[in-house]
Amino acid sequence: LSERTASFTDSVIRRMTRISNLHGAVNLSQGFPDFDPPKEILNRLKEVADEDYHQYSITWGAQNFREALAEKQSGPMGRNINPDREIVVTCGSTEAMMAAMMTVANPGDKVIVFSPFYENYGADAILSGAEAIYVPLYPPLFQFDKEELEAAFLKHPKALILCNPSNPCGKVFTKEELTFIAELAMKYDVYVIADEVYEHIIYEPHHHTYIASLPGMWERTISCSSLSKTYSITGWRLGYIIASAEIIDVARKVHDFLTVGAAAPLQEAVIPGLKFGPDYYEILRLKYSRKRELFLKGLDEIGLVHTIPEGAYYVLMDIKEFHYESDLEFCEVLAKEVGVGAVPGSSFFKEPVNHLIRFHFAKRDGTLSEALERLSQIR
Ligand code: GLN
Repeated sequence: LSERTASFTDSVIRRMTRISNLHGAVNLSQGFPDFDPPKEILNRLKEVADEDYHQYSITWGAQNFREALAEKQSGPMGRNINPDREIVVTCGSTEAMMAAMMTVANPGDKVIVFSPFYENYGADAILSGAEAIYVPLYPPLFQFDKEELEAAFLKHPKALILCNPSNPCGKVFTKEELTFIAELAMKYDVYVIADEVYEHIIYEPHHHTYIASLPGMWERTISCSSLSKTYSITGWRLGYIIASAEIIDVARKVHDFLTVGAAAPLQEAVIPGLKFGPDYYEILRLKYSRKRELFLKGLDEIGLVHTIPEGAYYVLMDIKEFHYESDLEFCEVLAKEVGVGAVPGSSFFKEPVNHLIRFHFAKRDGTLSEALERLSQIR
């Protein structure tokens, strides 16, 4: 079997979902909601079953989906996105990120990855033949050291991967930080592959800036995102890449041979969501703000030490006090004995980090309360 597949494991995030299910644990490991998508989308899904959407859509995405997406993203991304030239619809942002990497990297090329990082990036790099160079983000605010970042750029990388807001640490990069990254990208002629799937899950007073919207960055940014988190449809596997026509021409070829296309009926069914006005996104933000408050307050009451996310829906909890050999073992015991699923933090760090676990709080209030109730028995 191929050597490259020997250098990474299956996803620990997805593995923890299977372990949680096995033990009937409240699954706060793999981040996905247990509440319904918007009813407008579900109603349209029912209608679509009786309409003519059962064959392939255009490889790079149905025309009306791309038009609705271009309309939604043009304002926030600060330019008129051309639905015919500057979008490719993918099977989730998972495919978008993989396709983006294969679009820019030759075998042997280096890519900069901030650590902690979403675990897919390591495998994405290996599968596309690239080599990851890791740059640490330092807690508590998960800031990078400017000199360390520039030193990574001096190693002639092809691209930098930016997860903003960040999974798992919840960092929302400030405009000043993004400007610094952008200036380095321009100085050293490096692409930025942005994973912005949590673009609408931002807590006050933080503000999300699309790096593609910064001066000079449109030409070198590959913006990847997904409809999974924004419309609570992680199982639909709908994502996209937005970039310049020059980049998209190549990304479309990669996407075409990877997957041919995203599910046609689902692209059609989600269009009412893409057309929602600003209220929808404000309500979503408030909903997650309340969940964050509920969950963090619960952890505080139990006396558990944790990060405070600025965006996305994850929290890292410190498990030093429990004196476990490994965070994986801790998570297995937590799922089995306490009945709560979490992801070992070591899946997200390049550095040997063994004292953190990740919970997500994209769950109904009742589910979160049940998890907190169980966690209160942790000692
Ligand atoms: N982004 C989610 C997480 O980090 C899950 C994504 C996935 O499993 N595809 O848990």
